[in-house]
Amino acid sequence: MNDAPRTYDVIVIGAGPVGENLAGRARAAGLSTVVVESELVGGECSYWACMPSKALLRPALAQADARRLPGLKDAVQGPLDTPAVLARRDYFTANWKDDGQVAWLDSVDVDLVRGHGRLDGPRQVVVETPEGGSVRLAARHAVAVCTGTTAALPPMPGIADVNPWTSRDATSAKKAPRRLAVVGGGVVAVEMATAWQALGSQVTLLVRGGALLERVEPFAGEMVADAMREAGVDLRFGANVASVERDGAGGEVRIGLEGGARISADEVLFAVGRAPHTGDIGLETVGLKPGSWLTVDDTCQVTGVEGGWLYAAGDVNHRALLTHQGKYQGRMAGAAIGARANGEPVDDAPWGAHVATADHAAVPQVVFTDPEVAAVGLSAAEAEQAGRRVQVVDYDLAHVAGASLYGDGYRGKARMVVDLDRGILVGVTFVGPGVGELLHSATVAVVGEVPVDRLWHAVPAYPTISEIWLRLLETYRG
Ligand SMILES: Cc1cc2nc3c(=O)[nH]c(=O)nc-3n(C[C@H](O)[C@H](O)[C@H](O)COP(=O)(O)OP(=O)(O)OC[C@H]3O[C@@H](n4cnc5c(N)ncnc54)[C@H](O)[C@@H]3O)c2cc1C
Repeated sequence: MNDAPRTYDVIVIGAGPVGENLAGRARAAGLSTVVVESELVGGECSYWACMPSKALLRPALAQADARRLPGLKDAVQGPLDTPAVLARRDYFTANWKDDGQVAWLDSVDVDLVRGHGRLDGPRQVVVETPEGGSVRLAARHAVAVCTGTTAALPPMPGIADVNPWTSRDATSAKKAPRRLAVVGGGVVAVEMATAWQALGSQVTLLVRGGALLERVEPFAGEMVADAMREAGVDLRFGANVASVERDGAGGEVRIGLEGGARISADEVLFAVGRAPHTGDIGLETVGLKPGSWLTVDDTCQVTGVEGGWLYAAGDVNHRALLTHQGKYQGRMAGAAIGARANGEPVDDAPWGAHVATADHAAVPQVVFTDPEVAAVGLSAAEAEQAGRRVQVVDYDLAHVAGASLYGDGYRGKARMVVDLDRGILVGVTFVGPGVGELLHSATVAVVGEVPVDRLWHAVPAYPTISEIWLRLLETYRG
C-alpha cells in the first residue's frame, strides 16, 4: 500500500442512491468528493430492490387493472409472458452493469474508488481494491457511511444449506419456480409474492403474525390479503417457520412449521427484515460497535463521535428504509457538510434547513400490490399513541366516480387522520388500484401543514380518483 493518503474534502463509503446523492450535493457545495463502492454504483435499489421489483410488478398490476375493464378483459385472460417480463426487468437493471451511473459520477466531477472501504480511525478510510491492493484516503471535512443493508436471515439451523432466496434472488431470478414459499408479511414479502404468483409460480405466503403490512393502517393489510387469496396465493397466518431443509442440491425445500405442518416448495424466499451493512467497515476504529445501526441527528451526523466528521445516511441509520427518504437525507447531509465546511449555518439555507425533519413526520410509502397501498404520516393508532386528539375520516373509494371508471368492481378505501387541535392532517392512507400516484398530494398536505379548511379550495379534477379528497373533506365536515 502506498501510505501517503489521497486527500479529499469528503469521502462517501457506498455508492447506492443515497451515497450518490450525498456525494453530488457535497460536490455542488464546492467540496472535492470521492465515493467508494464494493459492488455496483447505484446500489441495492438499482439492481436488486426498487427497480427490478417494480419492473416485475408493473405487468402484473396492469394485467389486473385490464381484467377489470369490459371490452379489454377478454384480451388479457392468458398468462403473462414471463420471459418478456424478465427481459424488461433485465433492461431496467442495465443487465447489472453500472456504466450509466459511473458516467453520472464523472459528469458531476465526483471520483470513484472501487473496492471495500473501511474506516481506519478518524477521517481515514482504507479501500481494499478488487485487484488485491489497497488505497488510503483521508478526509478534510467528513466521511459519510452510506453502506445500506443486507437481507436478514433467521438464526435457524441448516438455513444456509438450503440456499434460500433473499430479496436479491427474488428480484434477479431467471425463471419462475413452480412452487415458491415466501416467509414474511412485510412489504418485500407481499410485493414479491404478488409478482411471482402473477409470473407463474404457485406462491405460499407464510406470515408469523395475524396480518400483512403491520406498519400501516390495518385495513390496508386486510384488503391486500383478500386480493392475494383471490389471485391464488396460499396465504397462511400464524405460520412460524421452525425448520428448513433441501432434498439434495437442486431438490425441493421442506419447510416445517411450529405445530407440525409441513410445506414443500422449489424455492423459499426469506423476507423477514434487513440488517445494517456495518459488520466490516472499521466502526471499531472510531469507537462504534461493528454490525450496529448508526444513530444520527437530523443532519445525519453520527452521534457520539468526537469532532463531528462522521455522517451516516440512508438505510444504514435505520430512520426510514426507503430510497426516496434516504436520498432526501443524502441531499440534506451533503448540503450540511458543505455549509459547515464553508462556515455557513446549516439551518439557514435559501430553500429551508439542511435538516431531514420529514423523517419524523411525513414518510411516504407505496406498496405496489393489487390493490396498491399508499400511506404518509401517522396511522390513526400512531397518532393516538403520540397523544394527539384526532378525528379519523374514512371513505370507500368505490364511491368516487374516477375510481369506478378505473375498473369495474373497484375496491378501495381512504383514511385521513385530522389533528383536531391544529386543524391539519397528520396522516393519510389510500388503498386501491392506481392510488400510488395520489400519494404526493397527501405528502404535500401533511408536510405543508395545510389547514383542512384551506384544502377545500384545492379542487380535484372530475372525474379522477383524486376526488377522494373532496369526499374525505365532506365526510369530515359532516
Ligand atoms: C426487494 C426490495 C424492494 C424495494 N423497493 C423499494 C421501493 O420500491 N421504493 C423505495 O423507496 N425503497 C425500496 N426498497 C428499499 C431501498 O432499496 C433502500 O431503501 C435503498 O436501496 C437504500 O439506499 P442506500 O443507498 O442507503 O443503500 P444501498 O442501496 O443498499 O446501497 C449501499 C451501497 O453501499 C455499498 N457498500 C456497502 N458496504 C460497502 C463498503 N464497505 N465499501 C464500499 N461499498 C460498500 C453497497 O455495495 C451498495 O452499493 C426496496 C428494498 C428491497 C429489498
